[in-house]
Amino acid sequence: MNGSTPEYAEKATKLLKNATHAIVFTGAGISTESNIPDFRGTQGLWKKFDPKMASRSYFLEDPNGFWQFYAKRYEYVVRAEPNAAHRALALLEAKGVIKSVITQNIDRLHSKAGSKSVLEVHGDIIMSHCDCCGERVPTLECIKVYRNSGSAPKCGKCKGGLRPSIVLFEEPPELIEAAFDRACRSDLCLSVGSSLCVYPAAMVPEIVKRQGGDLIIINYDPTPLDGIADLVIREKASVALEAILKKLNSQ
Ligand code: NAD
Repeated sequence: MNGSTPEYAEKATKLLKNATHAIVFTGAGISTESNIPDFRGTQGLWKKFDPKMASRSYFLEDPNGFWQFYAKRYEYVVRAEPNAAHRALALLEAKGVIKSVITQNIDRLHSKAGSKSVLEVHGDIIMSHCDCCGERVPTLECIKVYRNSGSAPKCGKCKGGLRPSIVLFEEPPELIEAAFDRACRSDLCLSVGSSLCVYPAAMVPEIVKRQGGDLIIINYDPTPLDGIADLVIREKASVALEAILKKLNSQ
């Protein structure tokens, strides 16, 4: 980045400074710079895989195929480290500029970067549980079983099917009410790296806007909420957030 402040950083800084309770809503796009592919971006997983692989019906129909897909996703996540965008959000929270991060991601990178108030509305992939009795097992153990036997892992207690503790398509996100609650108390939402297509999670920025708050969107591709946003930034998440942080630090 050269010395001059991009215009978007000036505008974003003004909006953030006017807010009394700003929240951040993140999606898979914030983690692509940590080498975890997103779903719908240009290099997204849906260019190679069928989206049904992340669904509850696929888990029930073809548990082996399901675990083949999730073993791959797990590998991406365990190798990943937070990037500059995650770190910038942790610093914005430490400075009191944002109150919390609501993430759709299952990679734990916000917490790893130092964010304290993180709500993972779609769970996290590090732990798994039995779909029948709820017994919890580290996902790594499930993957070892899958790799050694070629078959989907079963619960040691009841022989039910094990699955990552994440929200699959066709399942209701249990933490969504807590996310809506945070959105209702907020007067600004900064959305980073989300196509804003996955509902009900994508209602979080909508709620903030509907009740008179501001909306800033940082995303490469257009989103359905661009038209109601106060500021749309078509920039790499790390570049945009570092520019905003730099501007805030200079004031
Ligand atoms: P998505 O794939 O639908 O959209 C990601 C968006 O991010 C795209 O529009 C893309 O243009 C943009 N993008 C990609 N890299 C970017 C960058 N460096 N800077 C700015 N923009 C960038 O993802 P979503 O909206 O989060 O929704 C899909 C679901 O994806 C969520 O439910 C989430 O659980 C799941 N998911 C999570 C991970 C993860 O945990 N890292 C990875 C893949 C998918």
